[in-house]
Amino acid sequence: MKHQEIRDKFLKFFESKGHAIVPSSSLLSNDPSVLFTTAGMQQFKPYYIDPSSAPAKSIVSIQKCMRTSDVDEVGDAVHLTFFEMLGNFSFGEYGKREAIHYAHEFVTKIMGLKIDYVTVFAGHSEDDTKYADSESQSVWNDEIDHTIQVKKVYGTDNFWGPTGNEGPCGPTTEIYVNGIEIWNIVFNQYYRHKDGQLSELKFQGIDTGMGLERLAMVAQKKDNIFETDLFEPLIQILPGEGIPVRVHRIIADHCRAVAFLISDGVIPSNKEQGYVLRRLMRRVIVQCHLHGIELEAIQEIFEKMIELYREMYPGLNLELVKSVFEQENQKFQKTLKTGLKELEKTETVDAPAAFKLFESYGLPFEIVKEVAGDKAAGLNREDFEEERKRHQEISRAGAEKKFGGHGIAEGDDFRKTRLHTATHVLAAALEKVLGQKIQQNGSDITVERLRFDFQFSRKITSEELKQTEEIANEIVRKNLSVSAKEMPLKEALDSGAGAFFKMKYPERVKVYTIGDESDWFSKELCGGPHVSHTAEIGRITITKEESVSGGNRRIRATVD
Ligand code: ATP
Ligand code: MG
Repeated sequence: MKHQEIRDKFLKFFESKGHAIVPSSSLLSNDPSVLFTTAGMQQFKPYYIDPSSAPAKSIVSIQKCMRTSDVDEVGDAVHLTFFEMLGNFSFGEYGKREAIHYAHEFVTKIMGLKIDYVTVFAGHSEDDTKYADSESQSVWNDEIDHTIQVKKVYGTDNFWGPTGNEGPCGPTTEIYVNGIEIWNIVFNQYYRHKDGQLSELKFQGIDTGMGLERLAMVAQKKDNIFETDLFEPLIQILPGEGIPVRVHRIIADHCRAVAFLISDGVIPSNKEQGYVLRRLMRRVIVQCHLHGIELEAIQEIFEKMIELYREMYPGLNLELVKSVFEQENQKFQKTLKTGLKELEKTETVDAPAAFKLFESYGLPFEIVKEVAGDKAAGLNREDFEEERKRHQEISRAGAEKKFGGHGIAEGDDFRKTRLHTATHVLAAALEKVLGQKIQQNGSDITVERLRFDFQFSRKITSEELKQTEEIANEIVRKNLSVSAKEMPLKEALDSGAGAFFKMKYPERVKVYTIGDESDWFSKELCGGPHVSHTAEIGRITITKEESVSGGNRRIRATVD
């Protein structure tokens, strides 16, 4: 059974049980408490508290998920960073019984698989069995099949909920096939109050998640996720000889994650989502370097992978993925070899040493840990992150004086170039938002920030600033080309290019265009220099808008 067939079967099955099909949400969650979408239920969270807000009482979806917490597990048989989660959800329409019956029917009848065993919640501990889920046990054994082995599990493994926090929570039942957990069925049955007490929810919530890759693995009778038709064609591309299986797996996994992240709008940077993307790309680049794998193979993996997924995820953008990867590669190659040499010379790699390798040469934690081997035996991620945070605080404190935290292979000049192009992007974005041409009256760029003044008679509202920032970052994501052309002044002005009011221009001028000549986003008379593609700018953040003399407004912004 091919992967697309499994997806179709899942959606059709639950559709036939009255579920509405809802598309996957972005990997970039709109829930500010998490960096990425990690489960299917995330986009439906509010419906568990207020079912009347849901578009349908029962929903089925296939959700793109990203779990950075599993990155160190990648390489084993069943863990990935990016995966697809098949899920059915109910907000007050059906309960445990139906949910378990549906899951059993799908796994055994539709997929034709044999359940090894299932788990149910036995209580918070052996001494506290007040909330033991005897109903699930009875549905499995008394209603469905008395031969199914039901394992009783105490503690949090089979109890889902925000630990220590207020919110919906409840017991879970997990389905195992060939010794692997494939499906987790969560019963949002209780509400945990601030004091830790549980009370029954008025509406029973159902939230289930089954990894597509794990289901494909057992359906296709493979020993691990990487031998399924979701991965095998990708791994095929890599040279085999002398390269550890784990390396193949890491590269294949990370390439998928990278392609989905970039297509969902993530730009490599040194913080948050952008930093995750950067780490994944650099890890691929380092593995290729260490094992003599040509980077063309990686571009080929992107091609193959997007071919595999195009039907299901038309938003995957091959050109953008390839060019963002290539740019990151160029940035990183400059310091990679020196960094690896430095790592070789370091005798014991502890957290401060690892951080230094990151800051000076852009070597992410995983790479240091991996390449250093025994020398980094005492190094762990928590200590590294702590060190990183400590340095971020130090550099934030001194940010106005000297720009810190951007040690990665970047000289001040290139940073200024990025800020310069960002100025053009922001000015054009602002014109779009204000619906009129703006007259720029000055621009000033330091290594920390850009600043530009323009004539405007009122304050720019925070909503307008937000829109401007959004448009600007959209342009960054689109990775438009930036090109320069020399022409007579008059021709330049006639073409609609922006110019400074007070400036005296020569007869022949240079015009910088962002976007295609036939469909440009920005055109300005300018001496340069600029980046060659907008994705090189990095995320743009407007930090301030204020009034200056003479009816001028002033905007300041930074780039990641
Ligand atoms: P495990 O204990 O195996 O890591 P989990 O308890 O973290 O799994 P859940 O959070 O219950 O998993 O997620 C629901 C389902 O999503 C799992 O049953 C599995 O099929 C799938 N899944 C979870 N994490 C991953 C991962 N890192 N890679 C691939 N599939 C995953
Ligand atoms: Mg897990």
